[in-house]
Amino acid sequence: MIAAEQENEQAVLHIAGRPIGGPHFSLIAGPCTVESREQVLEAAEAVSEAGATMFRGGAYKPRTSPYAFQGLGQEGLRLLAEAKEQTGLPIVTEVMDARDLDVLLEVADVLQIGARNMQNYTLLSEVGRCGRPVLLKRGLSATLDELLMASEYILTEGNESVILCERGIRTFETSYRFTLDLMAIPVLKARTHLPVFVDPSHAAGRRDLVGPMSLAAAAAGADGIIVEVHPRPDEAICDAAQQLPTAEFADYVERVRAAAAVAGKVLSS
Ligand code: PEP
Ligand code: MN
Repeated sequence: MIAAEQENEQAVLHIAGRPIGGPHFSLIAGPCTVESREQVLEAAEAVSEAGATMFRGGAYKPRTSPYAFQGLGQEGLRLLAEAKEQTGLPIVTEVMDARDLDVLLEVADVLQIGARNMQNYTLLSEVGRCGRPVLLKRGLSATLDELLMASEYILTEGNESVILCERGIRTFETSYRFTLDLMAIPVLKARTHLPVFVDPSHAAGRRDLVGPMSLAAAAAGADGIIVEVHPRPDEAICDAAQQLPTAEFADYVERVRAAAAVAGKVLSS
């Protein structure tokens, strides 16, 4: 197995000129979804100025309800391209359907595979074949073995740029949205050379928990964090309760930078 073969030799991936993994700590930040030109450009400018490594934003959204907003699709991708042009930040955005790959590849520097698609094996293979770096999220009820096997579907197609992402798993606890499994960080890092990121936003579902869980993840040796940030979170179309306001983001970055330093890592902008 490719993920296990290079055990203990942490890979440093190079994505759009940014080093990922090893001594480097990365911060992917941006809104849950692309909503409007103003929102996306404001968010991109703020996270860029605060020192984020990459910009996130969904154009195709996996929503629990089919009646909920599903994302702006190609119009959203166009706005992400504008954000990239304006800030120079590489773009991370989700692919839900291989039929969208052609248009996604025009904009995405990293293709995100969401938690709900972690075991969509045909999608994993297609994304593996396209060669673009992938951020693979752990499924809601997936074991770490299952996450690693999912990564193999991408790796065996010859695509070596895979980032694993812990984003909370479903447990019996109902006080917050999901249970962030921080032990996944050292356990995965002992078993694979792939970089391991953490998404505190989708785990918590609540803004007040995002700060402490980000610090814990960084201090525990995560290679990066993907976090949701919005200029006006209360007006957000989805995940309003968990997105950090852009006004507080610079302070957040400094605290995460210090926590990453505890684990011997340097934030790369
Ligand atoms: C997201 O990051 O936009 C997302 C939907 O996350 P997850 O797949 O982890 O729920
Ligand atoms: Mn979200």
